[in-house]
Amino acid sequence: MTEPSDFIRNIIKEDMESEKNNGAVITRFPPEPNGYLHIGHAKSICLNFGIAEENRGGTCHLRFDDTNPAKEDAEYVEAIKSDIKWLGFDPKDHIYHASDYFDKLYECALKLIKEGKAYVCNLNAEQIREYRGTLTAPGKNSPYRDRSIEENLALFEIMKNGDIKEGEAVLRAKVDMNSPNLNMRDPVIYRIKHDSHYRTGKKWHIYPMYDFTHCLSDSFENITHSLCTLEFEDHRPLYDWLLDQLKSECHPKQIEFARLNLTYTVLSKRKLNMLAADNVVAGWDDPRMPTISGIRRRGYTPASIKDFCSRIGVAKRDSIVDLALLEHCIREELNRTTKRVMAVINPIKVIIDNYVEGKTEYFDSPYHPTDKSFGFRRVPFSRELYIEREDFMEDPPKKFFRLAPGKEVRLRYAYFVKCTDVVYDENGEIKEIHCVYDPTTRGGSAPDGRKVKGTIHWVSAEHAISAEVRLYNNLFTLPNPEDKKSVADFRDCINPNSLVIVKSAKLEPSLADTLPEEKCQFERLGYFCADSKDSKEGAPVFNRTVPLKDTWAKMQKNKFR
Ligand code: ATP
Ligand code: MG
Repeated sequence: MTEPSDFIRNIIKEDMESEKNNGAVITRFPPEPNGYLHIGHAKSICLNFGIAEENRGGTCHLRFDDTNPAKEDAEYVEAIKSDIKWLGFDPKDHIYHASDYFDKLYECALKLIKEGKAYVCNLNAEQIREYRGTLTAPGKNSPYRDRSIEENLALFEIMKNGDIKEGEAVLRAKVDMNSPNLNMRDPVIYRIKHDSHYRTGKKWHIYPMYDFTHCLSDSFENITHSLCTLEFEDHRPLYDWLLDQLKSECHPKQIEFARLNLTYTVLSKRKLNMLAADNVVAGWDDPRMPTISGIRRRGYTPASIKDFCSRIGVAKRDSIVDLALLEHCIREELNRTTKRVMAVINPIKVIIDNYVEGKTEYFDSPYHPTDKSFGFRRVPFSRELYIEREDFMEDPPKKFFRLAPGKEVRLRYAYFVKCTDVVYDENGEIKEIHCVYDPTTRGGSAPDGRKVKGTIHWVSAEHAISAEVRLYNNLFTLPNPEDKKSVADFRDCINPNSLVIVKSAKLEPSLADTLPEEKCQFERLGYFCADSKDSKEGAPVFNRTVPLKDTWAKMQKNKFR
């Protein structure tokens, strides 16, 4: 599959044609290990690793941007590696950590100080903000800006040794307090943190800031194209300034693209972490989470995620992608790749009065309507069945073609049955439905040529296995949970029905030995995936990946009407 082109691929193609960077393409994916990867990261992964794969001699580095000891953890490092691998990308031996460069970065900071291009500032965070000015007001020089090089070197040394409290001193680049770009108004490049770092332990008390670390790490690794999201556009002048001041041999080209936003979804590790920490969901891999591990557990595949990323493309303008498109991608794949089986989620008993008691017959039924390679299974049929509660109505409207008193329907693969009676329990609820079957309709057609409009699915009560089925819906009730105009806090629009647990759905017996992560279509209901954690052999637990109804395909159709 060749990737459709986009403005970034065009730039790289031109650079290749003009023999820039000696014809090399080196990209990088630089996650901070402070949470699990989400579908937005998948966009960046597909772009960075994809470009490396498409170009001869291309490489993509995985670099952990681990400069904040307070938030980062080895657990996240491992999760990120395994998610990238699962997506089908391989950084090979190009796995790096910004923390590998702490010594080199420190040397760079010293160099800036020695050249009078950085100074230790003792304003506190609030004062720094005040002095910075605004988009309309220029900044004010810090009273510490003109410290001597010697004094700066001495103070930076004390900071490094851990003898100053957090927040009492920072190292700032001396750029321009009057710059129209706020990022250029003497940005902080080092701060004091006394936490222990998950890789370097207690070695450091000063940690480089993102803007300082990022451009230099890119440069150390000979990155050719540094692809990042649009919010870094205003940081590019600083990226270039630092590399120019330090006369770096390698000066990568930073190119910004729009981040992925999805309807009914939040894509921020900080917010996703809150959902997991507050038990709004059952952890980072809850199937309602937009994390790679969450949607994987929900039943998404690497191919469907890549297909999605390819369809949304890469552009320079922010937009919100419809969640229905992501669902469309997995539906299309599962339509091709999964077997069809029968399961009843909301069961109601049907008794076929004229069927011999104790008899079982088997219907050889194809696992796939068109693809013979899926083979067949034997579906048992007997006098007592379960059908879906929604497939029966006592007083149906005109267009209801399923089961109703006096009406005949086809039981998928089996017989025509006609409803003769309804029995109620003491609460007035339906207890069971009585039918008669027509033995001449074996296999689902009548020799006398009579037709039925409805075909419904069923399972034999005696042979059914009971299983837990988890029906997932959007996690948020609003298309844009982060829009402050419609909701004060994104947690105020959590969908109370985002998970509906059905404890004893009735499944056809062929599903008894479903393996964790195995996927199938429950006919007429949707695509389901055996849960990777809770599903056991003989006691499957199924997650609904997506219902069958494709709102995306429908929207597309309506567009062209
Ligand atoms: P978050 O806001 O979720 O914490 P982040 O940008 O802070 O994301 P990083 O770990 O720094 O997370 O991201 C690693 C890479 O993934 C960066 O290059 C970033 O631009 C990219 N990325 C993060 N979110 C998205 C997104 N929604 N769409 C596209 N790329 C993204
Ligand atoms: Mg970040």
